[in-house]
Amino acid sequence: MPLPSSLAYPDRVALARLPTPLDRMERAGERLGVELLFKRDDMTGAELSGNKVRKLEFLLAEARDRGADTVVTCGGQQSNHCRATALASTRLGMRAHLLLRTADPAHPPAPTGNILLDRVAGADVQWITVADWQRRNELMAAAAERLAGEGRRAYVIPEGGSNALGSWGYLRAVVEELDPALAALPSRPTTVVYACGSGGTGAGLVLGAALCRWRERGIRLAGINVCDDRDYFVRAIGRICRDFRAAWPAAPAIADDEIEIVDGHVGRGYARSRPEELAELVALGRSEGVVLDPVYTGKAWYGLVQELAGDRARFGERVVFLHTGGLFGLFPAADEIAQVL
Ligand SMILES: *Cc1c(COP(=O)(O)O)cnc(C)c1O
Repeated sequence: MPLPSSLAYPDRVALARLPTPLDRMERAGERLGVELLFKRDDMTGAELSGNKVRKLEFLLAEARDRGADTVVTCGGQQSNHCRATALASTRLGMRAHLLLRTADPAHPPAPTGNILLDRVAGADVQWITVADWQRRNELMAAAAERLAGEGRRAYVIPEGGSNALGSWGYLRAVVEELDPALAALPSRPTTVVYACGSGGTGAGLVLGAALCRWRERGIRLAGINVCDDRDYFVRAIGRICRDFRAAWPAAPAIADDEIEIVDGHVGRGYARSRPEELAELVALGRSEGVVLDPVYTGKAWYGLVQELAGDRARFGERVVFLHTGGLFGLFPAADEIAQVL
């Protein structure tokens, strides 16, 4: 379904390898008792693997249009968003300045996984404490001001690239890729399941689903939160959708009941894995040759497996799991994963 003519795409810079494949997972599907497909957004690129690059296509286009030479953003120490921002900014001839959250900035973590790639991409890293994280937006504004004092021009991207402009990435993924792919399959009750971490992917998906009338067509969308709780994400996604409509008034209005969040699978908390989550990640690797990450997709996948074990019909006959990437987060967790091999 094309966009209504009153709602035009903002400027976009092509960074992701699109469209990503929609792959059938025969053995895992049989085990779970559903038709199972993976939307392979882990294949949006090699270094740029994952969901964040879809948001960055729009965010970095705006940065470039505004004449920025530096991109400031923030995340956890192994942030996929920061890694993708560092690499994509460099590719476009800009620098990246990253605020990364860690327990003790005086003793920053070893440069492995995403941190290693941040360094390889030439990003400046500013380590911040968990307490500082509460005022991350203030700290990013201060960093931008410092850079301005050095004659540089900074563009600030919020946590996860999760704002109205960034959510065009997944709106576009629904309209241009998922909706046509699902329309080409035999019609059956279908749910698209995704990992929810800061809400920008969810907001884009919800907006795209509303534009494509998924609800009326028996296609559901369910986010599995990997941190915080259901209320938090209904509010966060609702707020991004309202900001979106304030900027692009032709966008659909989103009611709270259009935002389905499946809570109960956060486990030990953000970026903390339980052995059973990692065992399920390994089981998928061994049955399908597809690798999830411990922080997002592995946790959401474990949640999906638990939900379907409780009720095979929970998400209808067909489940499309959005593989949002995160591969590099696997390596810093090597010792924990080795326990379940
Ligand atoms: C950031 C991230 C998510 C969550 O996306 P949000 O837009 O932040 O909700 C899911 N999976 C991976 C691998 C991610 O890096």
